[in-house]
Amino acid sequence: MNWTNTPENLERLKRVRCFVLDMDGTFYLGNNLIEGSLRFYEEIYRMGKSILFLTNNSSHNSDFYVQKLTRMGCPATLENIYSSGMATAQYLNRNLPGKTVGLLGNQFLRDEFADYGIKVVDEDPDVLVAGFDTSLDYKKLCVFCDWVREGKPYIATHPDFNCPTETGFVPDLGSFMALIEASTGRKADLIIGKPYGEIVRGMLEMTGLPPEELAICGDRLYTDVATGVNHGILSICVLSGETHPEDLETSTVQPDLVFDRLENILDLL
Ligand SMILES: [Mg+2]
Repeated sequence: MNWTNTPENLERLKRVRCFVLDMDGTFYLGNNLIEGSLRFYEEIYRMGKSILFLTNNSSHNSDFYVQKLTRMGCPATLENIYSSGMATAQYLNRNLPGKTVGLLGNQFLRDEFADYGIKVVDEDPDVLVAGFDTSLDYKKLCVFCDWVREGKPYIATHPDFNCPTETGFVPDLGSFMALIEASTGRKADLIIGKPYGEIVRGMLEMTGLPPEELAICGDRLYTDVATGVNHGILSICVLSGETHPEDLETSTVQPDLVFDRLENILDLL
């Protein structure tokens, strides 16, 4: 790899007060921490900086991630987690208060929406939300496509085509949306998650910091790194997950900094 981290971006790195981390492929792989992740977490807090885990996966809620991180020895709490499901619920409450929602989502997302006081209905919803529905069945899909065909506002929690698991990729919401588009001729009107603006707005609100005091770290160029590039936030690509060094040579999305894994950032702070 012919990648060089420039002195200018390494200077920006020193000013970062909160590291916004992707989880899978960045902090852990499946159920195992990536080497040095826990040291990174502890050292960042020891320096008086903080960490926010930012995930596009709307098939789990914050409790799930806290439990998962705790099992791996990481002392994260609910304040450390922000997901596309939460960002979508906040968007609905801010922009479409009181509207009923037709949801393509599993029980975790239903519970998350209930926590935000959002009413999910099975008949004639005002707004449609598509999430990563791991309990999807054909009937649900047909009903959702009917609603899309009726022209109801259609929001998606995130754009990822695949979700990494221990045994390889499984189709994620981006793939469902491609199917819905093939059937109905419509794309989502709005996508909330990385690399788009709504999840960034929520994240800025949650951290209370300006973009120049954040860094977004992830293993995926078209979501994690693109979020930084699109919103003036220092973008860090880690090579512990999906991106291979040769991808950097051809990608139109170029990160500000590249490291093999999170732990390597510590030497430069
Ligand atoms: Mg990832």
